[in-house]
Amino acid sequence: MSDCIFCRIARGDIPAKKVIENDRFVVFHDISPLYKVHLLIVPKRHIASVNEVDAASGDALAGIFDIAREAAGKVGVAGNGYRLTVNTGRDAGQVVHHFHMHLLAGESLRPL
Ligand code: AMP
Ligand code: ZN
Repeated sequence: MSDCIFCRIARGDIPAKKVIENDRFVVFHDISPLYKVHLLIVPKRHIASVNEVDAASGDALAGIFDIAREAAGKVGVAGNGYRLTVNTGRDAGQVVHHFHMHLLAGESLRPL
């Protein structure tokens, strides 16, 4: 989608502090981090939310945990641990309607 902020980052139209990029995903630092380490794992294909995931999204999302693990290793939090979170819809506080996974780490996180 041309006006979607994460599509624009995925295309390289607007800058982001990228950690990793491959053919399917881009991982970058959240612009207003809530934790010492706060990354966003974003599929390059536009999928609005988990509610829009279907059989056809399989390819776009395949390997998401591999890239999350790789990103955690790259920023040095694999050993101490990290939390992966996906907000879906209004009540969860989703504000960017392009599916993404938050990787939260770098400090002790409050239990859920
Ligand atoms: P969510 O509430 O799950 O939709 O989270 C969206 C996240 O995207 C928020 O944590 C924002 O701080 C982050 N965000 C929005 N715009 C940008 C941007 N241009 N670069 C990096 N992170 C962004
Ligand atoms: Zn998008």
